[in-house]
Amino acid sequence: MMVSEVWSFLETDGDRLSDTAVSMATEAKRTAKIFNARPAGVVFSQAPEELIDAVQPYGLEKLYCCRRDLPLSPEIIADSIRTAAVDLSPEFLLFADTSLGTDVGTRVAAGLQRGFISPCTDFSRDAETPAARKSIYRGKADAIVAWTTPPPYLAGVALEALEATSIAGASRPELVDIALSAQPSRNRLERSWAVDLSELDLSEATVAIGVGKGVAPDQMSLVEQLAERIQGVVGGTRIAVYDGLIPHERQIGTTGKWLDCDLYIALGISGAPQHVMGIKSVKKVIAINIAREAPIFKFAHLGVVHDWQEVIEGLIKLLSTRTGKAQ
Ligand SMILES: Cc1cc2nc3c(=O)[nH]c(=O)nc-3n(C[C@H](O)[C@H](O)[C@H](O)COP(=O)(O)OP(=O)(O)OC[C@H]3O[C@@H](n4cnc5c(N)ncnc54)[C@H](O)[C@@H]3O)c2cc1C
Repeated sequence: MMVSEVWSFLETDGDRLSDTAVSMATEAKRTAKIFNARPAGVVFSQAPEELIDAVQPYGLEKLYCCRRDLPLSPEIIADSIRTAAVDLSPEFLLFADTSLGTDVGTRVAAGLQRGFISPCTDFSRDAETPAARKSIYRGKADAIVAWTTPPPYLAGVALEALEATSIAGASRPELVDIALSAQPSRNRLERSWAVDLSELDLSEATVAIGVGKGVAPDQMSLVEQLAERIQGVVGGTRIAVYDGLIPHERQIGTTGKWLDCDLYIALGISGAPQHVMGIKSVKKVIAINIAREAPIFKFAHLGVVHDWQEVIEGLIKLLSTRTGKAQ
C-alpha cells in the first residue's frame, strides 16, 4: 500500500531557506508521525542541492523542488503546488502562517476545492477525519476544527507552534523535481523593498523594545538610538500610549499587538497580565525595572533591577566600542 505524504511548503529568502522553513520541515515530520505518513518539503529554488544540507537534520524523506527562485507570484507558486498535489496525492499540505504561506495556502485550497484551517497549533486523528487545534479569541480559548472535505487536508501552522528540532543521523531527503505552473500569471511583481524599521509592524519584528510608564517622553531618543543599534522595533504598554510615547498601533498586549519575536527588551514596564499576554510567544525577554518585585521579572529570561536609562546608555556604549560606530 502506498504510504501517504505530509508536505510542508518551505519558504526561501534569496538563495537560502527562510527562518520558518526548517521549523516547517520539523512540522512535516511531526504531523507525518501522527498520521503514519511520510514527511516531505516543497521548495522553489534554482539550486535545491544547496538547500538539502540545511534541511537534512530535520528528517524529511523527500524534497519536492520547482527549479525557479522566488520571488514568483503567489498565484504561480500555488498553481504549481496544486498541480503537483493532484498528480501525487499528498494527505496533508502545510503552510506557515506567514503572509506568503497564507496567500499560497488559501489559493491552493481554493484551486483544489478543499477547506483551509488556520492558524493551527496541533493535529489529531481521533475522529473519523483528521482535526486541527486552533486558538480562538486571541489565545483565550482553543477550538478543535475538522475538515469536512476529503484529502488533501490543508492547514496554516501558527508561528508560535513552530519549533525546529534536529534529528541526529537523519538521512538526506530524496530530491524530486516538480514543474512550474504553465498558467499565465494574472499579476506581475513590479518591485519589492525592505520597509524601514520604524514602519515595520510589531508582529513582524525579530527584535522589539517595549517602553512603559518608567520611560519619560524626553528619554525616547535614547530608546530610538538603541532600536537603531540592535535593529529593533519600538512598542510599549497602554500607559505608554496614554503618555504619548508611542502611537496606539504600537501597543503590545491583549488590546494591542501580539509579538512573536526572538528578543523583547522591556524598559520600565511593570508586567501587568494584559501586557504580558502579548509577549508570551517571545523567545527571550530581558526586563529592566527599578522595582525588584515587578511582575515582569517572572516572565523574563534576564532581569536587571536598575534604572533602565543607565543600563541602556552602558549597552549603547558597549555596542559602539564593539562596532566602532560613534555614539
Ligand atoms: C481591559 C484592559 C485592557 C488592557 N490592555 C492592555 C494592553 O493591551 N497592553 C498593556 O500594556 N496594558 C493594557 N492594559 C493596562 C494594564 O493593566 C497596565 O495598566 C499597563 O500595562 C501598565 O503599564 P506600565 O507597565 O507601563 O505601567 P506601570 O504599571 O505603572 O509600571 C511602570 C514600571 O516602571 C518601573 N520604573 C519606573 N521608573 C523606572 C526606571 N527609571 N527604570 C526602570 N524601571 C522604572 C516601575 O517600577 C514600574 O514597575 C489594559 C487594562 C485593561 C483594564
